[in-house]
Amino acid sequence: MILGMDIGGTNCRIGEFIPPCGVVNFEMFPTRKVFSSTPPVKALAEMISDYVLRHGENRTPKGICIGFPATIDKAKTTVLSAPNIPTLSGKEIKESLFALLGFPVWIERDVNLLLLHDLAHHHLSADGTVVGVYVGTGIGNAIFIDGKIYDGKHGVAGELGHIPVKGSEVVCGCGNVGCAEPLSGGRRLKELQATCFPDTHISQLFVSHKSHPLLLDMIDTMALPIAAEINILDPDIVMLGGGVLQMEGFPIDLLLEKIRFHARKPYPAQDLLVYLSPASQESGVIGAGIYVTKQ
Ligand SMILES: [Zn+2]
Repeated sequence: MILGMDIGGTNCRIGEFIPPCGVVNFEMFPTRKVFSSTPPVKALAEMISDYVLRHGENRTPKGICIGFPATIDKAKTTVLSAPNIPTLSGKEIKESLFALLGFPVWIERDVNLLLLHDLAHHHLSADGTVVGVYVGTGIGNAIFIDGKIYDGKHGVAGELGHIPVKGSEVVCGCGNVGCAEPLSGGRRLKELQATCFPDTHISQLFVSHKSHPLLLDMIDTMALPIAAEINILDPDIVMLGGGVLQMEGFPIDLLLEKIRFHARKPYPAQDLLVYLSPASQESGVIGAGIYVTKQ
């Protein structure tokens, strides 16, 4: 029994991984409820133990991998900062949870697990240089080099949303001024809806206003950090996904055109290999399962 778990800002998802790319007994709980009053590690342990009790059929899990919407330290033991779930920030998870559960625990940035899933989904290898960009509320970024997750010195590599943009005075969720993320992620979309399109439901923004200059400008701004990473890494594969890209009517062809426009010619622009992440609630849980099989 291999368990995968994906903690999102809104929902926590858990399931039993079935190789090579499946899941059974998939369940979802509101994140707010899971982390409401109990200390976070204890809350996680209770949720996982309860799941094993109900679905384990007396099996001891081989292990669980948990994806967090957070930065994780290089040793992969501690959540450094989780803007959406502040109670997790600074918490040691791996050893504390192992002590409570009695089976191995791995923790990772959620986007790394998403990319593992998306590569398996498309039957692609993680060899060479692979990047994933996931535009949701923020801009998530995963980088794999020769099959290994690239972590950087502190474990916080791939903070693509925090590439500075000249001329912006917007304060980012990270505290810096002028990051790309608040100009091009879901937060910007919410602002545009509230200020410019109050009569359109946010889910219909691209359906109703695809050609509006403000939305076109947002797509162009979104392409900048993605093209910057492509120009730095010359990747074999680029995976694009996330809630904003999966919205109804999202002009994905326009985003690809803008990325190619800003990518250096002739290479890496000329034969850029881009895949789209499938929209699925289960991706992070399956990716977590794949992670366990690689340990
Ligand atoms: Zn920032």
